[in-house]
Amino acid sequence: MMNFPQLPPSKPTRPESEQLHEEVWRPDWQCFCCQDTGIVNPHLARLVISDYVWERDRLPICQAPKCGKSSRWLRLGNNNLDMRFISTICQQLDMYNRENWRLTVERKVFDLQALVQKRSMSGILDRTFNDNREIQQRKAEIEAITSEQWMAMAHAYRGEDDEA
Ligand SMILES: [Zn+2]
Repeated sequence: MMNFPQLPPSKPTRPESEQLHEEVWRPDWQCFCCQDTGIVNPHLARLVISDYVWERDRLPICQAPKCGKSSRWLRLGNNNLDMRFISTICQQLDMYNRENWRLTVERKVFDLQALVQKRSMSGILDRTFNDNREIQQRKAEIEAITSEQWMAMAHAYRGEDDEA
């Protein structure tokens, strides 16, 4: 058993307004077909080859028009590569994956906003509850004052008045 040194998470500091959006991780890939690896994302490849198996099949090379990431794989030779994912297929997969990610990020930001709203709402409720409790407490204190105490207080007031 190895004991690795333990480090706390290192979070980038950002202005508060951006924090909510920045808490949600969003990919910054140039190519959403291969996610900048040069190999078509296996989940996407399966949309085109329904029984595609990553471990068994040739590597589907990304041929999206603006993606140059596949060059490093080309030297593996044709027997290892599946070149059938032509540019129009990769473009389609790129669009599909891009849209999926857009929706995922939107949903996550929405969920976070709802959570933050819920938290601040419960904060308001707590405050009102406490305010009400304080009013009730004050009223109970006043009600607890006996008539003798009232008389004494009235007397003291009058006495002060006499002295003045
Ligand atoms: Zn690509």
